[in-house]
Amino acid sequence: MPIPDHKTTIMVHTLATKPNWKYHNDAKGAVEEVRKWHIHDNGWSDVAYAGIIDAGGRWANGRDRDLDGDVWEETGAGARGWNKNTIHIALCGGYGGDANDLPRDHYTPAQMAKLRQKIDEIQTEAGRKLAVIGHNEVANKACPCFQVKPWYAKKTPRDITGSKTIQGAATTTVGAVGTGVAALSQLDGQAQILVVILSAVMAVGLFVVFRSRIKDWANGRR
Ligand SMILES: [Zn+2]
Repeated sequence: MPIPDHKTTIMVHTLATKPNWKYHNDAKGAVEEVRKWHIHDNGWSDVAYAGIIDAGGRWANGRDRDLDGDVWEETGAGARGWNKNTIHIALCGGYGGDANDLPRDHYTPAQMAKLRQKIDEIQTEAGRKLAVIGHNEVANKACPCFQVKPWYAKKTPRDITGSKTIQGAATTTVGAVGTGVAALSQLDGQAQILVVILSAVMAVGLFVVFRSRIKDWANGRR
């Protein structure tokens, strides 16, 4: 289904449901249940989201008021001021979460993979890049209980210190500096100057390696 020209943004949400929720592994059931909440409890015309992804990584179409099977054309109800131009996608789970949690704190790998796949499908279908954001970027909310932008860029805030290449480079740098200082104290005069110059050259080299590693990591080539 084509992505209408006025759609500029994909927004990710949480259902804030518990893992033992009846429809945690049933995307279709989740849509029907949330549809009831949003129509009967909120007085809206339909479920707020274009689709819901369950814990098993299954997608089910959501809001489709004209029942034509096209959920991308709909104006959702995911966030005030962000509906006409936004496609809203929600994830089962996320109960009690915080805005800065990690995806794995609440969602399964299958679920996150499906979310990425669905976003990529929309981007490809649109033939342009829609912004990919979380509800918590436009409202003072935890939803969807992680930071969407770094996740979508294939990184999360806590992953940078967990990266093995980054840790390795840091250890090498600290080791080299420590060895240099120890060696320096054993020498005198001109030899010390020479060692300082060599160390500086080595430090610059390590910095270049370190920086390119960070770039690689940022680009997802870990
Ligand atoms: Zn939300």
